[in-house]
Amino acid sequence: MVQETFFSKIIRREITADILYQDNLVTAFRDISPQAPSHILIVTNQCIPTINDIKPEHEAALGRMIISASLIAKKEKIAQDGYRLIINCNHNAGQEVYHIHMHLLGGCLLGPLLAR
Ligand code: AMP
Repeated sequence: MVQETFFSKIIRREITADILYQDNLVTAFRDISPQAPSHILIVTNQCIPTINDIKPEHEAALGRMIISASLIAKKEKIAQDGYRLIINCNHNAGQEVYHIHMHLLGGCLLGPLLAR
């Protein structure tokens, strides 16, 4: 049994978020604590805790995450300069919310991939 997180409430619009995009498979909204001028979370509508839990039936939703990231980056006008997509998995990666989400970060020079 998968334990829902508050992301499911955002997806169902039971709690407020700045939603930029939603379709039958994914929802995208601005991160509440932005780490870059554009910091958007793209989440699967279905609660899948981590990338370790993905199954073949999730392929469409995971593909849609990337396609929607590309569309949103263009709308945010950060596509040309560049941006970063990150999915954290479990403790060592710093995953805080156990509902698969992709961070879309851009709008400035992002620097090295890993903190040193
Ligand atoms: P992660 O560490 O990869 O699990 O990322 C979780 C992200 O969720 C963090 O960047 C948080 O700032 C973000 N976050 C937490 N609460 C909210 C919220 N209510 N609305 C939008 N983003 C949130």
